[in-house]
Amino acid sequence: LKLRRLLVRHHFLSRCHSQKANDVTHKYDVIVVGGGHAGTEAAAAATRIGAETLLITHKIETIGALSCNPSLGGVGKGQLVKEVDALDGLMGRGGDYAGVHFSILNRSKGPAVWGPRAQLDRGRYREFIQSQLLKMPRLTVIEGSVEDLIVSAADPEKPGKHSVTGVRMADGVGEILASSVVITTGTFLSGSLFMGRTTSPGGRMGEPPSCAGLSHSLREVLGLKLGRLRTGTPPRIIKDTVDFSLAEVHLPDPRPTPFSFINKHTHCKPEDQLPCHLTHTTPGVEDVVRQSLHMNSHIQQDTKGPRYCPSIESRVLRFPGRQHQVWLEPEGLTSDLVYPQGLSMTMPPDLQLRLLREIPALHRVEIRTPGYGVQYDFVCPMQLFPWLQVKGVQGLFLAGQINGTTGYEEAAAQGLWAGVNAGRTALSLPPLSLSRTESYIGVMIDDLVSRGVTEPYRMFTSRAEFRTSLRLDNADLRLTLRGFEEVGCVSSERYSEALRVSQGLGDALVALQSVTMSSQRWREKLRDAGISDAKSTLISGEEMLQHKEVSFEMLVSVFPEIFTQYLEFSQRIKIEAVYRPHCENQKREMERIQEEESLTLPPDLDYLSLPVSLSDEVREILDRARPDTLGAAIRLPGVTPAAVVHLLNYVNKTE
Ligand code: FAD
Repeated sequence: LKLRRLLVRHHFLSRCHSQKANDVTHKYDVIVVGGGHAGTEAAAAATRIGAETLLITHKIETIGALSCNPSLGGVGKGQLVKEVDALDGLMGRGGDYAGVHFSILNRSKGPAVWGPRAQLDRGRYREFIQSQLLKMPRLTVIEGSVEDLIVSAADPEKPGKHSVTGVRMADGVGEILASSVVITTGTFLSGSLFMGRTTSPGGRMGEPPSCAGLSHSLREVLGLKLGRLRTGTPPRIIKDTVDFSLAEVHLPDPRPTPFSFINKHTHCKPEDQLPCHLTHTTPGVEDVVRQSLHMNSHIQQDTKGPRYCPSIESRVLRFPGRQHQVWLEPEGLTSDLVYPQGLSMTMPPDLQLRLLREIPALHRVEIRTPGYGVQYDFVCPMQLFPWLQVKGVQGLFLAGQINGTTGYEEAAAQGLWAGVNAGRTALSLPPLSLSRTESYIGVMIDDLVSRGVTEPYRMFTSRAEFRTSLRLDNADLRLTLRGFEEVGCVSSERYSEALRVSQGLGDALVALQSVTMSSQRWREKLRDAGISDAKSTLISGEEMLQHKEVSFEMLVSVFPEIFTQYLEFSQRIKIEAVYRPHCENQKREMERIQEEESLTLPPDLDYLSLPVSLSDEVREILDRARPDTLGAAIRLPGVTPAAVVHLLNYVNKTE
């Protein structure tokens, strides 16, 4: 296996290194700057739609690198991975190839908010992404550092004040021209690394930041508003020094569920998956944090830190006296390292070791590489169009962490969409947007461009008003068909498969509606399953399937001649049948809300004690935000259409 990996890598590097920056003379359709998760999807998507593309990145060997935790997906993020896959992106297939521990989070809740997640083998993920990029026609990959953008006055016939026509390479290597440029510099734009009292320039440990010229061009030449964000990563610890017997073991799902619609199985066999372990912090951890504060410049600058993935320092300072979870996650099948999720920290390395050893399972742990923090520039994303082009700058697109997001999945999803639009612009095709009603990607981009960010943006299912229809199971039906027919980023093989599935599911649902019986008769038929039904009217197979206890397989046993042919879709049919009434109801609610968007909400409403059916979480969100209108209330992340309908009814009644 090792030999195979080495051969793949050698083959890849020899092809890429043969293209040095100063050999590149002709004009490309698209240049992508940065080979992180946004950059790789952008380059691949631009290539898929037919644009001749150049990917420039600092180091080819870090293409597909997972800078922080070796995991993919989760609640909200898993939806993004499925959508990237539905649009033929690389990330889902990469996860299936590299996953070593698969699980579906939130299984106790409805399938609309399930979160597929996998621990990955870092090396394998990189290997997959690199090998896929290498195979792509029309894509050239080079190592190098982009120092600056080539900016000129915009074509008077095109909208916008400026036009970006290429990039200038560092070290006098020269200029490379393109019709569109996508910048995906992640945490590297004017990046600074923090450990203890030491600060040094860098985008990731051991890697230099982006050249200062790029920040300067964006800020001074193009007049864009930039901000500064921060994040951090835990120390990596040596597996043999962890006492796993003092932690709680968590096994993966016995049957791993692939991320990709085109994979029936994951690469890792179910029995070869690795466990994760859970442990907790102790009061000793809190003591070390407090004692080390004066030696920790990252936390001194901002004790709160990012809300999502906060450091152990900020968790302890915000919630003193609490036990915090620490997940001990494998870094790969053959890796001798463990990733302690929840212990991101920036104190000096000797104190990091002291802190870790306050946790019983880590009492004799050794560190391979210490944790550190990073601060970097981001571009305020309200300066972008929904197709991720910078407003007023022809040919310039931004994607990933540079737009104020955090996470591989958020970066990949934006990268894909920016790559599509950069390619389309270069090929003189009109730009395209994704709506909030059709995808989580649309929700994320709309949030970014219409509300901006004050802290790193992360995807949650609660951000999507239409989450009952934006499900994991139907991402292919929502996006693959459009991706082929209109966008042009989906292969014909994937499209044919999505068409076949769409046809099969459609037929199955028609068949389900056509089969009606009295509930008495159904009861007899399904007596063995122990179903009781109070209704005595005629009900359809679809309505029968809406009972929690009734599976599609049960209906197949009642009407084998009708339903057997659809058995391969059984889980999808069940989910579709259960969610259909909710989706229709939600659509009606949204139409009502849209009609009354401008309704003014009384400024003195006491949301915390309002006599309507609202969850505590929604009450708190409304109380904090105090929206002026119903439209502003529905756009608050976490506020559901159902909650807004209750609010609407209450206000109408009391007026
Ligand atoms: P990146 O993955 O950062 O990739 C940027 C790429 O651009 C790099 O390959 C770089 O070499 C290249 N590049 C940059 N400038 C140039 C240039 N001028 N010329 C050529 N190439 C260039 N995410 C989480 O969700 N949770 C976390 O807890 C978390 N912690 C993190 C901690 C650290 C220390 C770091 C560094 C990142 C962390 N992340 C975390 C963020 C996660 O890594 C990013 O969200 C994700 O990688 C962003 O993808 P991207 O493609 O935008 O950028």
